[in-house]
Amino acid sequence: MSVSKKKISLIAPFYNEEKNAHLFFERVDKVFENIKEKYNYEVVCINDGSNDNTLNELIRLKNESFPMLKIINFSRNFGKEAAVTAGIDFADGDAFIPIDSDLQHPPELILEMINKWESGFDVILAKRKSRATDRKIQRVTANLFYSLSSKISHTNIPADVGDFRLFDKSVALELRKLRETNRFMKGLFAWVGFKTTYVEYNVEPRQHGKTSFNTWKLWNFALEAITSFSTIPLRIWSYIGVIISIFSMVYAVFLVVKTMFFGNPTPGYASLMVAILFFSGVQLIGIGILGEYIARISNEVRNRPIYIIKDIF
Ligand code: UDP
Ligand code: MG
Repeated sequence: MSVSKKKISLIAPFYNEEKNAHLFFERVDKVFENIKEKYNYEVVCINDGSNDNTLNELIRLKNESFPMLKIINFSRNFGKEAAVTAGIDFADGDAFIPIDSDLQHPPELILEMINKWESGFDVILAKRKSRATDRKIQRVTANLFYSLSSKISHTNIPADVGDFRLFDKSVALELRKLRETNRFMKGLFAWVGFKTTYVEYNVEPRQHGKTSFNTWKLWNFALEAITSFSTIPLRIWSYIGVIISIFSMVYAVFLVVKTMFFGNPTPGYASLMVAILFFSGVQLIGIGILGEYIARISNEVRNRPIYIIKDIF
């Protein structure tokens, strides 16, 4: 009977994906065709301020062949994190699956995820087997990022896992309570906890268009991740200060003693300059890091909404 069917909510952000949209829904629909006896599904599509024809394409696809689409149209581009947040707010299934709409996340994996979910797990992460589709520099920095963040943060962010995952409705209810403006979804997902397992997959190449995450955006993303989940960069400065003070004290004693025994022939311009420049640099780094946190605090204090919806179809 259809009443007892469970509903799976896919959450798909769309930013300039007019060419990928129909391919994506066709592949997803094929997957759910296999399990339609037991599961219904919906796809919450968030049009994140695309400046191509994505919105019209989504509306057309909904009207012509995919009535299970819910289309949320943002008033401008708010970024992927905001789009996924809106999806979690509006989806109403028994399980939620954020998934990229550029077909890099194979929808076939959903079957495996659902099986694990039915066997009692709350969160099923899709873990990528290799980073073969990434540039080398991206691989190196990703590894560096994961090892650094696991050391300085209490929230353990699993390596090689993206937003692609399945989580139970109960997890979604907790996620909805987290309304911070500076959002690092992967961190928030990890922060709420719950019984977690993973399935493995290979990332596929993007079908059409190109990635909107360049190196600068990725760097800012990493900064967001660190500042959202660790205060160690802030606190480390007291320790650096103490160590430097101890060294200066020892050096001061040494200078006094030296002057007493050997007089003062005033050399030392070089060492003086080096010390001044070095410690000015250290201080500026410290102030810069304070600035990173203060900027985020002022963002949070303004308490603006995470996204603005123009219309829903
Ligand atoms: N995306 C979005 N808003 C943005 C950038 C990207 O909603 O500002 C969506 C995009 O349509 C795609 C997903 O987020 O479905 C992943 O983006 P992309 O493929 O550019 O990133 P990558 O796969 O390289 O990490
Ligand atoms: Mg992609």
